[in-house]
Amino acid sequence: MEKVKKRYERPIITKHYSGLMNKYGSRNISSPKSEIDGVLVKELVEKYDSPLFVMSEKKIRENQRNAYRIFKNRYPNVQFAWSYKTNYLDAVCSIFHQENSWAEVVSEFEYNKARKLGVKGSNIIFNGPYKSKPALLKAIKEEARIHIDHFDELYDLIELSETNGQKAKVAIRVNMDVGVYPKWDRFGFNYENGEAWQAIRRILSSKNLHLIGLHTHIGTYIMSAEAYRVAASKLAALAKSIRQEYNILLEYIDMGGGFASHNTLIGQYLPAEEVIPSLEQFADAIASGLFELPYKGEELPMLILETGRILVDDAGSLITTVIANKRLSDGRRAVIVDAGVNLLFTSFWYKHKITPAQENGFHTEDTTIYGPLCMNIDVIREGILLPPLKRGEQLVIDYTGAYNNSQWMQFISMRPNVVMIMEDGSVELIRKAETLEYVSEREIIPAKLKK
Ligand SMILES: *Cc1c(COP(=O)(O)O)cnc(C)c1O
Repeated sequence: MEKVKKRYERPIITKHYSGLMNKYGSRNISSPKSEIDGVLVKELVEKYDSPLFVMSEKKIRENQRNAYRIFKNRYPNVQFAWSYKTNYLDAVCSIFHQENSWAEVVSEFEYNKARKLGVKGSNIIFNGPYKSKPALLKAIKEEARIHIDHFDELYDLIELSETNGQKAKVAIRVNMDVGVYPKWDRFGFNYENGEAWQAIRRILSSKNLHLIGLHTHIGTYIMSAEAYRVAASKLAALAKSIRQEYNILLEYIDMGGGFASHNTLIGQYLPAEEVIPSLEQFADAIASGLFELPYKGEELPMLILETGRILVDDAGSLITTVIANKRLSDGRRAVIVDAGVNLLFTSFWYKHKITPAQENGFHTEDTTIYGPLCMNIDVIREGILLPPLKRGEQLVIDYTGAYNNSQWMQFISMRPNVVMIMEDGSVELIRKAETLEYVSEREIIPAKLKK
């Protein structure tokens, strides 16, 4: 083996605290992550540059199949709908659609994106608090499932369906107390105060609105399975009343998304794996709530799940390169990397799993990871034990598949390449790095300002 000369690091005095890991007691717990799905990180960076988002086709399919199996074992009729905002890269959505997922969209933009990908209207769930009238009309005509958020939207739908002589397929979003606080009560109609029931009566008294389901999305990164049991049981109670008073059987009950992924929250002491319920527990809870419906097997409504983050978070990684090492004024160690919070929006919430891509020795030190932006908020991680890293070496940030490729922004620096490692080990570019031309394409300089 090639002998590598030890690098000199300026000595510093560090105060050690008993009970915490220190220079002598700590070691680099995880071994380096030099490849992703069998492809070398070094090679990926050579070919596609750094920073680089990497998605795993295999992992997405595995996650989706696993989730379907878990729910299908517990409830007879299950349909997933991919939550576009969680990651709406076309290649990612296409995998979910190949795995039989419908599309769950929360805006006209996302609706059009799903249609462009070939999803038919009746396989689109149209959620969200803002749907313009033209968007609603298109959704009505294309027989999308429109989930009504508030009374003003309900009135728009009554008007649009009547003036155009079209029937609209609708459900309502219901918000409720499920024991998780703060309550999410800004979307949909409230259960406890009777608003949801009032909306249902209004829909059922309109000849052009066809009530096909009930929907709830109780929140995101929910760590309580019991909350889902309560939610399912409340929707089941509504469905039961609808049958008793109107003799109508609903086509489906949609339980939304929100299952916590295995990313650890900032401020959460134990790793997520140890405190998050399993998908089996979430599924048990939902099934037990739904089975409160006193229906015969074939009468049971379809269970729709709009699961987002837990299906894709661990299918994405961000490779980033060390630009510089630094000591802060109090002696703490810092590294600057080439990926900033404009790319990794979730670093405001999560302590991502971050692993060097090469052997860096066993001694670790508490390190702050800064991004390249000239902004004080650009902190990828406050305090993580890392071995010494050389300039040009890589870190792999795991669990970045959810909400980063939709919430990232072009700010100070542009968005980089995204590749997908395919099941056969080949690598495909699925979104090209932005260029100055691309970014300024939409800008117009008034004539007066041109010299
Ligand atoms: C965001 C969202 C989802 C997906 O939530 P996750 O927390 O990513 O599972 C599902 N349904 C609705 C209505 C949403 O807004």
